[in-house]
Amino acid sequence: MLIRNNQFNVGHICTCLQCELGHSGKLAMKWLGPRGEKASFTFEDLNQQSSRFANILGSLGFAPGDVFFIFLPKIPEVYFAFLGTLKARVIVGTLFSNFGDEALLDRLGDCRAKGVLTRKSYLKKLLRIRDKLPALRRILLVDVDDHPAGDILSLPKLLAESSPQFATPLTPPETPSVLHYTSGSTGKPKGALHRHRSVALQHRTARDVLCLQPDDRYWCTADHGWVTGTSYGIIGPWSLGISQIHYGGVFDPARWSEVLQDERITVWYTAPTALRMLMRQEPAFFSRYDLSRLRHIFSVGEPLNPEIVHWGRKIFGKEIHDTWWQTETGAILIANRPGLPVRPGSMGRPLDGIEAGILADDGAPLPNNEQGNLCLRPGWDSMFIAYYGHDDIYQQKFRQGWYWTGDTARRDDEGYYWFMGRSDDVINTAGHLVSPFEVESALLELEAIAESGVIAAPDALLFEKVVAYVALREGFVWDGDLELTARLHVSNRVSTMATPQEFFVVDSIPKTKSGKIMRRVLKARYLGMDAGDVSALEI
Ligand code: AMP
Repeated sequence: MLIRNNQFNVGHICTCLQCELGHSGKLAMKWLGPRGEKASFTFEDLNQQSSRFANILGSLGFAPGDVFFIFLPKIPEVYFAFLGTLKARVIVGTLFSNFGDEALLDRLGDCRAKGVLTRKSYLKKLLRIRDKLPALRRILLVDVDDHPAGDILSLPKLLAESSPQFATPLTPPETPSVLHYTSGSTGKPKGALHRHRSVALQHRTARDVLCLQPDDRYWCTADHGWVTGTSYGIIGPWSLGISQIHYGGVFDPARWSEVLQDERITVWYTAPTALRMLMRQEPAFFSRYDLSRLRHIFSVGEPLNPEIVHWGRKIFGKEIHDTWWQTETGAILIANRPGLPVRPGSMGRPLDGIEAGILADDGAPLPNNEQGNLCLRPGWDSMFIAYYGHDDIYQQKFRQGWYWTGDTARRDDEGYYWFMGRSDDVINTAGHLVSPFEVESALLELEAIAESGVIAAPDALLFEKVVAYVALREGFVWDGDLELTARLHVSNRVSTMATPQEFFVVDSIPKTKSGKIMRRVLKARYLGMDAGDVSALEI
C-alpha cells in the first residue's frame, strides 16, 4: 500500500499519497504557537503548500542532489519546506534555531549548502558568515512580504506566485533525502545523510512501536533540528496519515499538561529530561488535568531512569516505553514497545529483523550480562548512507561486518539491552549530543584562555552537563566577568546547549605525548577518582 512502482519519495508519501488514500480533508497538523496562536492544516493543505515549495526550488534553479537547509523555530513553514524540498529531490537539512555562527558555518560550509530558509531575526547570524559560504546562493525569509535583495527572497511572495500542483518525479529508493549533522568527540560535526528508502522503516516503527492508529492525535515534542523531530515529527506519522500536534512554545509543565489535555493527545513521544522536569511537580498537579485519552507514552535520547518509569505508572497509570536509536540509524531499532513487558532501566529489545550485538573492542562477541560495544548488523532500511563528504570516517564506523554505534551496553538473559554509556567523549545533555571539541575550540578563541578541556559530568536533571577546564594565559585572572564572557562566547559560537555549566581553572590541561587532550583524566579529577593509566601523558 505504501510503496507503489518503487516510488519512495518521502514528500509524496506524506502528502499526495495520503490525499489519494482519502485523507485530503483529514487534519494533518494542528500548530500551537508560543503566544497562543493556532492554525490547522489538512493533508490537502500540506500537499499543496509542499508542492508550491517544490516549484519554488525548481524555479530558483535548485537541482536534485543540492542541499537546502531549514533554520527556523517550530512554525508551519518548516513542514511545508521540508516535504517540498524532498518532493523536488533536493537534500533537506535542519538546524536548531539556537545554533551560533560557528555551528552554522561548520554545517552549511561542510555540505556546500545552496539555500537556507530562515526568518528576519536569524538573518544577521547568516550574514556574518556569508562571505565564508561561497556556495550559498539563496536565502528565503518566512516573514517579509517583498524580496529584500536579489538573493534574499520573501517566501510568502514566492508561495503566492507558485502553483500548488507538482508532479513528484519517480524517486529511486537510494536517492539522498535528509541530512542531519551530529557531533563526535573529535573534529567538526558530521552530516549523516539518509535516503528516501528510510521511510519504509520510519513507517513500520511508527505503526508497530509507537502503535499509531488512524484516529490518534499524536504529539512528538522533539525539535526538527534533531532526527527525532524529522523521523517521528514528520515522516513516520504522516506516512501513516496521522494527525499531529506541533507545539512551538517553550517547556512549561502547565502548558504541556494543557496541550496533552486540550488537544486530546493519545500518543506522546518525548524525552527523559522533559519527564524529569515534569516529575518535579507534586502528584496533585497532574490531577488537575484530564489525561485519560493518553494511550501510550514513549521516550528517547537519553537513558530513561527506572524512577521515571515508576513515576509514570503512578501519575499516568501507564508504562513509559523507552526507545533507542540515533541520527545514523534513522529510525527506532531497540525498544520497550507496547506488548513487551517493560524492564525499568532497560531500552528494550531489538525490533524484528534487527540484529544487535555486544562486542569486545577486538570485535569478539561478548556473552550476556557483559558490558561491551553496542553494534548493529548493517542493512536496515533507514541506515545512513554517508557522512557527507567524509567517506573515510563513514567506513570507520563499519568493522568486522558490524556498524559500531559508539554506545556501550549489555544484554540480559531475556534479550533486553541496557545502556551503559558512550565509548567516546561525546556529551549527552538533555538529549542533545555536544562535541567537547567544538566547545574547546570556541573557548580557545578567547584571548585569556591558553588551553581547554571539556568533559561530561553527571547531572540529575540533564543526564549530563558540560564542564570546562581552562588554563589561562600569563597576566589573565579568572573572575565573574571572564566566566560570563566565556559562557556567552560558547553560546554565540556553538549553541546554548553547549554552554559549560561549570568552569575549573587549572595550570595545564593533561595531554598525551601526541597532544590529545586526556578527557578521561579530567573526568576522573572531577569525580574525585583515580585517573587510571596516565603513562601516555605529556608529564
Ligand atoms: P542522536 O544521534 O543525537 O539522536 O543521539 C544518539 C545517542 O543518544 C545514542 O547513541 C545514545 O548515546 C543516546 N540515546 C538515544 N536513545 C537512548 C536511550 N533510549 N537510552 C540511552 N541513550 C540513548
